[in-house]
Formats: sequence, C-alpha cells, structure tokens
Amino acid sequence: MAVEPNDGRLSRRQTRIVRVGGVEIGGGHPVVVQSMTNTDTADEVATALQVAQLARAGSEIVRITVNTQEAARAVPMIRERLLSMNLNVPLVGDFHFNGHKLLRENPACAETLDKLRINPGNVGRGAKRDDQFAQLIELACRYGKPVRIGVNWGSLDPTLLARIMDENARRPQPKDAMQIMREAMVISALESASKAEELGLPGDSIVLSCKVSGVQDLIAIYRDLANRCDYPLHLGLTEAGMGSKGIVASSAALAVLLQEGIGDTIRVSLTPVPNGDRTQEVVVAQEILQTMGLRAFTPLVVACPGCGRTTSTVFQELAQEIQTYVRARMPEWRLQYEGVESMTLAVMGCVVNGPGESKHANIGISLPGTGETPVAPVFVDGEKTVTLKGEGIAREFKAIVDDYVARTYPRRVAT
Ligand code: SF4
Repeated sequence: MAVEPNDGRLSRRQTRIVRVGGVEIGGGHPVVVQSMTNTDTADEVATALQVAQLARAGSEIVRITVNTQEAARAVPMIRERLLSMNLNVPLVGDFHFNGHKLLRENPACAETLDKLRINPGNVGRGAKRDDQFAQLIELACRYGKPVRIGVNWGSLDPTLLARIMDENARRPQPKDAMQIMREAMVISALESASKAEELGLPGDSIVLSCKVSGVQDLIAIYRDLANRCDYPLHLGLTEAGMGSKGIVASSAALAVLLQEGIGDTIRVSLTPVPNGDRTQEVVVAQEILQTMGLRAFTPLVVACPGCGRTTSTVFQELAQEIQTYVRARMPEWRLQYEGVESMTLAVMGCVVNGPGESKHANIGISLPGTGETPVAPVFVDGEKTVTLKGEGIAREFKAIVDDYVARTYPRRVAT
C-alpha cells in the first residue's frame, strides 16, 4: 500500500463504535490504553490489587486470564474488590481452548466481564473448533458482551494456514512464506468476524487484533486489515520483550500505524523484570500517545541530555525529581484541575539551549552549566520570573509548579 506523506495533522480512521463497560472504542474516540495482569486470576486478592495498580496508573481497560474454573469463579470477586476500592475499570476475560465451557458453567463470570477476548486459533482443535467458536459467540450474544477477535501469529489456526498455503501453491507466482503468514492472519480475523456476525453478534460488538512480534510485519498486517474492514482495531506488538528493546520496538510499530490513523486501543506488551512493576506498560503506552500529540495524560518534562557542560549530577537529579513529582501529584491534580495534563515543563542543563527551551514550556528552569554563574533562571509562559540559587532549587521549583497549576487551570466543578 502506498503511504501518503503525513504533514503531522493526524486524522483517524473511521470505524464502528464498540462500547466496553463505560469506555467507547473506535469511531474517532481517543485511543484507549489497555493492559493485562500477570497474576494467577484464581488469586482474587493479588489480581484485584494488580488491576487496581494498572487502573490507577491510567489503564482504561484491563485484561485478565480466565483459564480455569477457579479463575472463572474469582472474576466476580475481583470485581467486588475493585468496586470496594472505588474502581470500575472495564475487565476483559482472555479465553483459550476451554472458554466456551468456563463461560457456560460460570454465568456470574460472563455477567461480570465487560468484553471477551477470543483467539480463533485457540478456541478448539480440529472438528471442535467451529462448534466451540459458535458456543463462545452465542454466550457473548446471550450476555450482551463485545468480543475482541485476537489473532496471534504464535497460535494461528493451522487449518486456515494450510488452506491458504494450498491456494498459494496454485498461483502462477506464489507469494513467499512471510507474505502468506501475514495474509493468513488478516483472513483469520476477517473470516472469524464474519462468522461471528452470521451467528448473531452485532457488528458493533467486534474489535479485531492481529499481533505479531516483528515491527514490519505488524505494520503491513494492520494496514491491510484497516483497508479491509471498519471494525475498531486493537494494536500491540506481541512478545515485545524486556526493557528498552520492548519499548523501542513497540513505539516504532505503534507510532507508524497511529500516525496513519490506524488503531483504536493499544497495549504495550513488555516483559517485566522478575517482581518488576507491571504498570510500566501503561506508562509507556501513555507516553507513546502523548509524545505523538494524540492524548495528554501527565505533564511532560522536557530535559536536555546533558553534555560536557554539565559535569555535576545536579541537573539530572532535578530532572528526575521533577518528573517523579508531577507523576505523583497528577492523581490529585487530575481530580481538581481541568487540562493540567497538557502542561509542559523544561529542565535544562546550561545556558546554550536552556533559556530558549524553557521559554517554549509552561515552566522552565535553566540550570548553570560548568563554569557558569551558579544561578538558575525560571521562565513562566515565556517570561523570566525569578532566579533560583543554593540548596533549595528543587523545593522552590516545585512550589512554583504548584502555584502555576492552581493559578492557571480551572477548578473542576464537583458533580
Ligand atoms: S542545553 Fe547545555 S547542557 Fe544541555 S545538552 Fe545543550 S549544551 Fe549540553
């Protein structure tokens, strides 16, 4: 597909709108941030706590594995615990192989969930596949739940793949194996969606995803999918990996698609370090959307990388302290002030770019580089307002930020 040059003004692909709990997906609604727990769902306490952490970090939909009878029985209790914490984040149940049975035997689980995720490659083996897929769709219809048909290249339906390979072999010029895999994923999603509609699931209850772990494959597959349907699309690079590799690969893939208006919900599938913080995937997803100008979640802190002009660690420490501070203050600010998430701060290392960058931010501070006079001018809405110096720079700068927020952003009216 030829890609038109994009001049930076993003337009969104028009899709049907799917309602998941209190969240609307598609139809030009803001791109939704999703995440997934890695606790044993049968452990309702641990799972409710992790869902709460993810929701408080900003996840607008949370997916949980439902793989056993114990997990299915735990789902309503997880919801109860979340409600007791004043959290009503939509919950998605992830089903493989035995989903039809678990949902049929645990009506409270089916009633509690806000969406079902079904992998057409994993609904059942051989002759059972179509029947179990039909049972899942009938249960979704009975309980009025939307469904994400989530294809994953690690579990692509082998029957469908064999059929497409046979068709390919009869072509005068057969496609290569990677092109066939991409085509099979798109066809698996589209044929499953058509089948679901034939079985009675409304078209505005279907979300599609086709996850692979290669950036170029993901981009090609979603461009194709976007051209061939108007279902909302959930984006994510599966098995993105750990640390910077996972963040960079996910950002590269998602940014290209989002820039083309493709994608209605996103998840960043990072592998956490052992006992690591699961909420990192939410922060990265938010930062992708915010740095692209698609949404705003938390004030952005612009900081220069530092160089030979910043030989002390004062500048890095201040940048880190301010970033942590605004993240910590944001839950309270969000409730009190409208629009505070769009605020920008700059923490700069020296006089070369410091004053200039600081003037572009709502509030900026230009720290002294090596050999400069040990003072730090502060700029508010482009005007130099005060010069800080001495030990209390971080404390005084935070007070300036607090004061600016209270003066600048309208107070929310209690409803
Ligand atoms: S603003 Fe100064 S300290 Fe920061 S990178 Fe530029 S020259 Fe280096």
